[in-house]
Amino acid sequence: NIILMGPPGAGKGTQAAKLVEKYGLKQISTGDLFRKAIKEETKFGVIAKYFISFGYLVPDDFTIQMIQEYLEENINTEEFKNGFILDGFPRTIIQARKLADICSMFNFKIDAVINLDIPEDVLVKRLSGRRTCADCGKSYHIVYNPPKKEGVCDACGGELILRDDDKPETVEQRLRVYHEQTQPLIDYYTKEGILKEVDGTIDLEDVFAEITKI
Ligand code: ADP
Ligand code: ADP
Ligand code: ZN
Repeated sequence: NIILMGPPGAGKGTQAAKLVEKYGLKQISTGDLFRKAIKEETKFGVIAKYFISFGYLVPDDFTIQMIQEYLEENINTEEFKNGFILDGFPRTIIQARKLADICSMFNFKIDAVINLDIPEDVLVKRLSGRRTCADCGKSYHIVYNPPKKEGVCDACGGELILRDDDKPETVEQRLRVYHEQTQPLIDYYTKEGILKEVDGTIDLEDVFAEITKI
């Protein structure tokens, strides 16, 4: 079981999708879970929508409750038999501590935390060019990782859109939130002895090769 960590736009979702394909791991993306909840207008969706649209984190208690409910329902299914990738969770120290409790509760262990290291100017370019499938959530980039047919998802044929929170005003806020609330996790997991640093700026196939080595 691994955690993929890094600022918005670092390539977590892109690498998670490749790991799913190669190792049959299950991807758990809290961002995807929130977007699904928003679409379906569930209780989590109504709350999350507001915070996400302003580039804030969804409060810890809701996020933890959502992931806990998700795991309770899914952890014993066939899809989880090869392990999982947490993509976008934890994002705060409180979430990381709670994850440790959840691990002992469900009797599993995090083997590695992979941190995609990448400077801010690169992130801004990635997020402004990111296009996301409205149906399955797969992400593309208009220059670095284009779909076969413009505006259409390779995987499911869905429409590719610019996420509302990938607009420049919101990106700036998300990066601030990352530095304040998520970056401290690098120290946290270094102390736990499971942090692995990967250069996130190189070509996405090369990033994948580095992760594969780990
Ligand atoms: P990105 O991959 O670009 O960093 P995500 O899809 O992971 O974005 O997350 C989108 C938004 O969903 C975040 O900006 C935040 O508002 C919310 N979110 C996702 N994961 C969490 C989390 N673990 N804790 C709180 N909010 C979260
Ligand atoms: P995250 O989930 O960390 O927010 P994504 O995986 O969605 O990030 O990637 C952000 C954007 O950058 C997407 O448009 C993606 O296609 C692109 N991208 C991902 N990895 C790379 C890479 N190594 N080089 C160039 N572009 C990349
Ligand atoms: Zn799709």
